[in-house]
Amino acid sequence: MKDDEVVGNFQELVSEVLIRHSSILDCLSKYQESTARVNRSVIKTVTDCGCISINANKKEYPNTESLKDCSKHMDSHIKGELCENCREVIAEEIGKHLFYLTALCNTLDYDLKDLFGLEQKRINTLGHFLLS
Ligand SMILES: [Zn+2]
Repeated sequence: MKDDEVVGNFQELVSEVLIRHSSILDCLSKYQESTARVNRSVIKTVTDCGCISINANKKEYPNTESLKDCSKHMDSHIKGELCENCREVIAEEIGKHLFYLTALCNTLDYDLKDLFGLEQKRINTLGHFLLS
């Protein structure tokens, strides 16, 4: 399977297996739940496993000549690295999140490849002025 077919094949597979949560209300609630589960899996990595920690403070923007250079100096606030187990758990939760995002797209008749293309075009247009 080519890389450019992965998204289309995934969206088709989701439409084939999604029977129980085909209602837009089920899609929305499962999508929201999956977002919370991704966040919780990251938090549990810090509070249960401890392989990473978070040391956050006010962001300081360096005096650089360009916004492009600025991104090289920004801190994620993460210290340490994910252990193999935590990496696997978070990947599984992100996968479920992608499933429900795709289900939402299917229910509203969006083509995921089109959305990726539109967003890529928007990012390319805005470039480093996209500060969100
Ligand atoms: Zn861990």
